[in-house]
Amino acid sequence: MQNILDLITAGAPSEEFANLELPESYRAVVVRKEEQDMFAGMESADKDPRQALHLQEIPLPELAPDEAVIAVMASSINFNTVWTSIFEPLSTFGFLSRLGRESYWGKRHDQDFHAVGSDASGVVLRVGSAVRKWKPGDRVVVHCNHVDDQDQSSHNDSMLGDNQRIWGFETNYGGLADLSIVKANQLMPKPEHLSWEESSVNALCNSTSYRMLVSKNAAPMKQGDAVLVWGASGGLGGYAVQYILNGGGTPVGVVSSPEKVALLNDLGVEHVIDRKEANYRFWSDEHTQDESEWRRLGKDIRSMIGRDVDIVFEHPGRQTFGASVFVAARGGTITTCAATSGFMIEYDNRHLWMKLKSIVSSHFANYAEAWAANDLICQGKIQPILSAVYPLAETGEAAYQVHKNLHEGKIGVLCLAPEEGLGITNRELREKVGEDRITAFRRHGA
Ligand code: NAP
Repeated sequence: MQNILDLITAGAPSEEFANLELPESYRAVVVRKEEQDMFAGMESADKDPRQALHLQEIPLPELAPDEAVIAVMASSINFNTVWTSIFEPLSTFGFLSRLGRESYWGKRHDQDFHAVGSDASGVVLRVGSAVRKWKPGDRVVVHCNHVDDQDQSSHNDSMLGDNQRIWGFETNYGGLADLSIVKANQLMPKPEHLSWEESSVNALCNSTSYRMLVSKNAAPMKQGDAVLVWGASGGLGGYAVQYILNGGGTPVGVVSSPEKVALLNDLGVEHVIDRKEANYRFWSDEHTQDESEWRRLGKDIRSMIGRDVDIVFEHPGRQTFGASVFVAARGGTITTCAATSGFMIEYDNRHLWMKLKSIVSSHFANYAEAWAANDLICQGKIQPILSAVYPLAETGEAAYQVHKNLHEGKIGVLCLAPEEGLGITNRELREKVGEDRITAFRRHGA
């Protein structure tokens, strides 16, 4: 890998990358099929990603005509790597074998290892024969929408493709590795003013928050809207609050510590609720919700902004969903993309229909949304929310931090990048955007 790194460091021309001989195998963080039952019978909270994630050599597969091989400089931890590593809600080897049955190229993914990771920044090393827009040597970030663009179902909105998948979660050869295989349509330009690790943390969460709040496909926010954001300093929430502030809205952030409140205040989020301090008990027992606690949250929001919120940015799921439906204003929208605390959701439907509220679902982002969200990062209008950086060999520990909610924002992982701070090619833009804004989460995480 050293010769690859040398070319990247030297900013070598495309031909030199194209002439590189690629290795037959490379280091990747994997879960192993033989271990998929290792946590059987245990509570989710006790399942430890550090036991399931391994750094090992895997063979570099044959490249399909519409794909690229990337030298991964940095990647990030997403919650889907936590799900994969605790084999919940199901083992991801089922996804890989289904993909394996689809085609000759799909078969490559069906292995007894699953190389994980759904974010990456890096450099294109090889392109397949059908790739026209990208060439070896291009500096890129990767979004995770893996879809067959020849399938008519994906033409209007690529998230509606019948075989839409999340790269590195529902496919193999993900980004937590020295190399990765991606479809050329997943490539986007790397933000020039950011380091490799700052560039690597954005694509998945930033694009998801963009679709949830900015795109017409979920809950397009208008200037003046108030938005309740659960987990407002987490991976999704850290981008959501920026979109709300940029778009002339009023975020009401919910977090779980005074440090997170301070971080959000620093970002310009005036209204923040510490849910631990407030000690909401939305569920009085495992089966029963307490409407008076929903009311208490609603009252807390009104005491801060003088009215109800137009949009609720939902992802915790079972624990909060009843409250989210209740506190949205008449005619308001609950936009949801996940259910971290449980998928089987209960809410009081009377509060939904009598007040004409809507629940809209959202999942990652289509090509255009991912590109638009990346463009905002490239322009310095949305900041990376990198809070900590781990070496590839410590990916298990990094995923453990996310599983246990010990982190803020996003955790970056150095893959081929030998140290932090490399890869910045536009210092002028960085200065213009402001070091303080770019590194706000890193300073808090340090
Ligand atoms: P994250 O970085 O862990 O942040 C989530 C935050 O939510 C936590 O930091 C926590 O913040 C808050 N939270 C967790 N459990 C909660 C509960 N029971 N009640 C209230 N708040 C709770 O994760 P993320 O990257 O934002 O992802 C969040 C969820 O979205 C995950 O399930 C992930 O798989 C999913 N996701 C889906 C998509 C998609 O495309 N569909 C994309 C990205 C992520 P506090 O403790 O500070 O309140």
